[in-house]
Amino acid sequence: MNTLFEQVKPFCFSLGFNLVGVTTPGDLEYFSIYEKWIADSCHADMHYLAGEHALYQRKSPRNVMPSCQSILVLAFPYPSITIQSQRKETTLSSIAGYAYLQDYHAFLPPLLQKVVHFIQERSGLSVESKVFTDSEPLLERELGYQAGLGWIGKNSCLINKDFGSFFLLSEILLDIPLSAEQKNSQYPPDHCGTCQHCIENCPTHCIRENRTLDSRRCISYLTIENKGEIPLDLRTLIGDHLFGCDICQQVCPWNQKIIAVAPAANLPDKVQQFLQDLDPAHILNENEFKQKFTFSSISRVKRSGFYRNFSVVLGNKKDPASILFLMQLLRDSDPLIRQHAAWALGSFHFESVCSYLTEALKIEKDQKVIQEINQALS
Ligand code: SF4
Ligand code: SF4
Repeated sequence: MNTLFEQVKPFCFSLGFNLVGVTTPGDLEYFSIYEKWIADSCHADMHYLAGEHALYQRKSPRNVMPSCQSILVLAFPYPSITIQSQRKETTLSSIAGYAYLQDYHAFLPPLLQKVVHFIQERSGLSVESKVFTDSEPLLERELGYQAGLGWIGKNSCLINKDFGSFFLLSEILLDIPLSAEQKNSQYPPDHCGTCQHCIENCPTHCIRENRTLDSRRCISYLTIENKGEIPLDLRTLIGDHLFGCDICQQVCPWNQKIIAVAPAANLPDKVQQFLQDLDPAHILNENEFKQKFTFSSISRVKRSGFYRNFSVVLGNKKDPASILFLMQLLRDSDPLIRQHAAWALGSFHFESVCSYLTEALKIEKDQKVIQEINQALS
């Protein structure tokens, strides 16, 4: 008779997950590294990760669900696109691979609920469960490691020998066991070896020695979770990254096999068209932004973060075709957008741009924007 885990596995594959494993709850070894990561302030402004309760929950899955007896860990693949194909798609900027899918916060939880229903049906029990996508409040990469999905690479991603690291992790906490031997007796070996590709290629040098990242410098954090300004010294290093960054995965040898066979991935049409359109008359207002990106992970940065990032990308591109667009952003009602548009306009040493910045300075009231305009003019 197949165990419940052996029965649920093919069902998960039929839903599109490409890796499935099971483990048990218990204190996590990685927790001490997490504590150090917080103590070193590498969580940047993500204060919700550092509170007493946040730490308590991450110490053990039992602190999230006391009745938990087993944890199903699942991986859902997202397009493994190369830097070259990202640029071909959008012309202007690059977008993280997972944003080529619909927003996973919306489509993954219903799939996980289907798995829970399957388990309830097969076991004939009323099973208590909790489902999670994204890292909160679990140390999900260690759970993935314990469940045999892969090892935690130097770039901090969970890496599988056959499927690389272009996948999203999800977990289902259950109050029943899924198999007699729930835990792998042998954890996946570390296959990073002497490789340093991710460390050498990270544009902002934010990969730390203990397989964690310093979010204060990581482009994924700076362009997505970060709600404020992008530090001046990091803006040029962001290059054309409009939303997230996949470089430390794109250069990983364990992803090359999957990149080579990956089907071409396309951004949804309306996102692609929008990203190629630099018409100053088409700057989206709040409602238009919500409508355009409601189905996409890009909506997470909101209008303010989106045009902040767009300004930085255009400032790095230095294409004169974007000047009118940036001038329009300098008149935006949002000071965060004006601040970064001013910085970007400082990349163009044209008389007309200087005059425009000088005029803007006369009416600007926000101290940070004033400072940025002065820097741009100097
Ligand atoms: S996501 Fe980009 S910036 Fe962050 S660690 Fe990886 S390569 Fe560096
Ligand atoms: S690039 Fe090399 S060092 Fe970095 S995660 Fe991949 S195998 Fe490990």
